[in-house]
Amino acid sequence: MINVFYKILKKANHLFHPIIGEIWCLHRVVASRSLFKSNRDLEITPSYLESLIVDYRSKGYNFVDIDSIFQNLSKYNNKKSINISFDDGFKDIYQFAYPIFKKHNVPFTIYLTTDFPNKKIFLWWMILEEIVLKNDRLTLSDGTVYLCTTDKEKQTTFETILSSIYSSNINMPTYFKQVFDNYLDNFSDYNKHLTLNWTELNEMLDSGLCTLGSHSVSHYALTKLNREQIKFELYNSKKIIEEETGRLVQHFSYPHSFCNDEVVALVKQSEYKTAVLGYGGKIRYRDDKFLLKRVCITE
Ligand SMILES: [Zn+2]
Repeated sequence: MINVFYKILKKANHLFHPIIGEIWCLHRVVASRSLFKSNRDLEITPSYLESLIVDYRSKGYNFVDIDSIFQNLSKYNNKKSINISFDDGFKDIYQFAYPIFKKHNVPFTIYLTTDFPNKKIFLWWMILEEIVLKNDRLTLSDGTVYLCTTDKEKQTTFETILSSIYSSNINMPTYFKQVFDNYLDNFSDYNKHLTLNWTELNEMLDSGLCTLGSHSVSHYALTKLNREQIKFELYNSKKIIEEETGRLVQHFSYPHSFCNDEVVALVKQSEYKTAVLGYGGKIRYRDDKFLLKRVCITE
């Protein structure tokens, strides 16, 4: 009986809040995907990206820019609109995705962490992958030992360490640097060839296909920062992108999807018009513009 009641409630909710579009959430487009699931889920291949575009167009979907999605938030007739968005700012967007978007005339969004083009980002989740791949045994500075001889052991070790980093109260890069202190000698300029630069970003903007939003300055989980630190991340990322590109930045994406009432209120105060999460599905009529869901694209 309760089941039937919930089904009716869900149907009524869907009737009054129909789907009015979707924003896809991607991170990287690479030729060869990672051995480790959590990183692999952030990657798709160029051929898969192109097949999605062709496939969805053949089903009557339109690829639109991010502003068109938001302009239609209060309209009922827009359910086959898709915006493709990337978080972070990896160079492979320029190398592998942008040529496909030009070929098929597809608008896209990059929610940019400004430490990526400014070459200050510490890519700890990718450095973790390199360390686990290269070593048969890890001894962390807190004394914990992990075995990683076989692929299976490496996969288990990677995911175990990743979840302990996520569950720590300390911010992720800080915690990572503390426990991996002995392993970081060769990674000082690791981000150099992996991240977009401002020339590439401006070229993509000039094509008319790309819109830039902000994904903070440092990619810290905002819920683990104090009020002044959160304001710094929100305000400075917007300012840096606007100064480097001459374009207004109106859209925000929460790093790691971490947000709470205080973070959402500060995003509104920082003159953003919308903010997105990294999960949740399609957008429905009158969804909260500062907690918008996205569709995760995995291969
Ligand atoms: Zn991110």
